[in-house]
Amino acid sequence: MSASIPPGPGLPGTYAGGLLALSLIDPDLARTGGARREPAPPPESWVRDYAGGRGWGIRWLTDLSTPGTDPLAPQNPLVFVTGPLGATKARGFSRWIVMTRSPLTGALARSVCGGDFGAALKFAGIDGLALTGAAAELSVLVLDASAGDPGALRAELVPAGELQGLDTQETQRVLLKKYGDAAKIACIGPAGENLVRYATITHGTRTASRCGVGTVMGSKNLKALVVIPPRRRLEAADPAAFETLVRDHYERMKVHPRFANMRTAGTIPMTEKVHYIGMLSVKNFQTATLPGLENLYTDAFQAMKTGNHACWGCATRCGQVHHVRFGPFAGEWSEGPEYESVWALGPEVGLVDPAAIIAADHLCDRLGLDTISSGVCIGFLFELAQRGLVGPAETGGLVSPEAVLGLDLAWGDAATILELLRMIASREGIGDLLAEGTRRAAETLGGGTDHYAMHAKGLELPAYDPRGAKAHGMGYAVSNIGGSHMYGYARQEISAYQEPRPLDPQADTEKGDVIAWNQIRKAIEETLILCNFADTAMDLPFLAGTLRSTTGIEELGDLDHLWLLGERIVTLERQFNVREGFSRADDRLPERMFTEPLVDAGPNTGEFIREPDTILDEYYAALGYDDQGRPTPATLERLGLS
Ligand code: SF4
Repeated sequence: MSASIPPGPGLPGTYAGGLLALSLIDPDLARTGGARREPAPPPESWVRDYAGGRGWGIRWLTDLSTPGTDPLAPQNPLVFVTGPLGATKARGFSRWIVMTRSPLTGALARSVCGGDFGAALKFAGIDGLALTGAAAELSVLVLDASAGDPGALRAELVPAGELQGLDTQETQRVLLKKYGDAAKIACIGPAGENLVRYATITHGTRTASRCGVGTVMGSKNLKALVVIPPRRRLEAADPAAFETLVRDHYERMKVHPRFANMRTAGTIPMTEKVHYIGMLSVKNFQTATLPGLENLYTDAFQAMKTGNHACWGCATRCGQVHHVRFGPFAGEWSEGPEYESVWALGPEVGLVDPAAIIAADHLCDRLGLDTISSGVCIGFLFELAQRGLVGPAETGGLVSPEAVLGLDLAWGDAATILELLRMIASREGIGDLLAEGTRRAAETLGGGTDHYAMHAKGLELPAYDPRGAKAHGMGYAVSNIGGSHMYGYARQEISAYQEPRPLDPQADTEKGDVIAWNQIRKAIEETLILCNFADTAMDLPFLAGTLRSTTGIEELGDLDHLWLLGERIVTLERQFNVREGFSRADDRLPERMFTEPLVDAGPNTGEFIREPDTILDEYYAALGYDDQGRPTPATLERLGLS
């Protein structure tokens, strides 16, 4: 056992060097050669109370933000964080998180991405990076730490007019040529430049997809971040204990069937599984099955698989690379799509052609569009057309008649779907309306169209129909980032997990405490930025042990301390939203979930959410919130947040 090492003035163990805050209007950054900038350790209490990753992200974002700031105003901070285990031998912890106030929802934005970029930030000495202000013209921010001295990081804002309009892959090609292969790049595509409200930040072909984090980057006139890391190692505070934990975990993981399954097919088998359990949303959540759906099962994608891709240091290598060899989409390829994108660009819009979905997925990656929000926006439009609610007259002056009439708004028409993706990214014709997201689009259109807008807090819903698993579904409603399945995935309902207790997916009540449990557990995992797909054979004692041995902070090895830390993060995120005016009225799902029973959903046929208010009350009680969903003074006191 190592002794507890007090943090500060430097950071202990495998933290990188601290937090780097940059204003994009700092004239020193615009000087040729940039300016020397040094990350600084956060306040001492942050290490014990928030650990790092998402914990530091929400703490820092809360401190840097002024309530009521327009998400697209220069003052809205854009925060990037890495985790304390990132860029170490621990496998599956090198992802990175972006946090800001979302231009899509007005609530907290939290978006996670993989690849090498998080490790590069850490090697450059950066645990967290906050950007405020906006560049005067389209620019690239270069963080050059290649000199190796932690105090010698140079930050330079370089005008990048030549990159305007380039897609994410072209942008990276140009920048890699300019800055060399050691550079790691995170950039936006045309969607981010055009302020599509669900634009992504892309690194390689990985994306921080959700909540419009790329839109905020676009509002700052920032086309790309280029990090040039030095050759460096991060040393655990207790190397022997850390090595033992990591080696033992790998031995357990490599014989676990999930490890091989994730490597073989990633999340693609979920299409078949979710259909089988009656939770697949089809045609904008109207039904749960579709002729030809078997075309999207695992074998079809395996026939086009050409390789695997991994994030930094990950043994799971879940990324599935596909190339289309035959037919009208021959030559198209994608790293992915994973299940959510197969769904959003497939069954959600009535499409069952895997080659067309690969083409649409890659197009979203290139344009910098979130596949989930894009698919749900298109599904929304298709349903409006199906019901005769959209056309030149209904869209008034906002949408040119040609834009509507020139498209055959038919479910599953691949050419229309691809064209709509391009129109969204360029805000052309009806794409301009869809670029606002379903909630704003319905507000603009009026005429009852909001009934068909499938979102929670303005964030488009993901691939599991809430009516088929009610803890999972109501989890979208109470998530502090809106309709996300990754804020507190209910494995108890979807995969029969027994911890903290088994759940009947169809039961109408007694769900709220498990929703809270899942959110807290996820918050703990994301202080380390553990990947959801690389967590095979990992449990909380392993996470606590690795945290303690890498940081040397004894408290971080204590399970009760860790649980309280997770609760603190979820509650601070709720407070962030309360400060922006959110309350119980925003913890809602689309009306369809309460009034329209599931159709053709196998075991879930006839299911709907019967007791949303009971589940809300249970959830609030579990977390110590009042009946409006606001943390009580006693809760804030208990968590050290008052
Ligand atoms: S499991 Fe997949 S997404 Fe997760 S870290 Fe590994 S390669 Fe990246």
